[in-house]
Amino acid sequence: MPEPKQIELTMPHQKNIALIAHDNKKHELIEWCRRNKSILEHHFLCGTGTTAKMVSTQTGLPVRGFCSGPLGGDQQVGARIVEGKIDVVIFFSDPLSAQPHDPDVKALLRIAQVYDIPIANNRATADFIITSPFMDGTYTHTLMDFRGQVEERAKHL
Ligand code: PGA
Repeated sequence: MPEPKQIELTMPHQKNIALIAHDNKKHELIEWCRRNKSILEHHFLCGTGTTAKMVSTQTGLPVRGFCSGPLGGDQQVGARIVEGKIDVVIFFSDPLSAQPHDPDVKALLRIAQVYDIPIANNRATADFIITSPFMDGTYTHTLMDFRGQVEERAKHL
């Protein structure tokens, strides 16, 4: 099998940022959003249902809400990563409580890794990401050409 081709994808200045917080972390995320409001308001925000609703009502930032996480919201975020519609994920997960949708959480982490998406799972990582010069500019990353790879696999398998 030939080596899979690589393609370059460039994130725009204005990022699509997904916000997710488990219940015990929602207030921490809202506080983080409040503190970073002047940066976040220059980007497009979306998030899992309850998180999106709470962030938008408590900070005034517009956040497009998907379904609630346990009802498929994390999977919706994952699907949008695959479609190239999400550039950054801020996901304050709770490491101390069992989650009914743990498989969905793992799936989201995996797909973010596959598509080379910056994903913060705690406040320190989120702080590093939000203050990165790439937030204000473009960022080009190199990914496997997944579509091209399908063509090759269909020919050779
Ligand atoms: P929620 O989902 O924002 O709807 O609470 C978050 C999650 O638990 O994944």
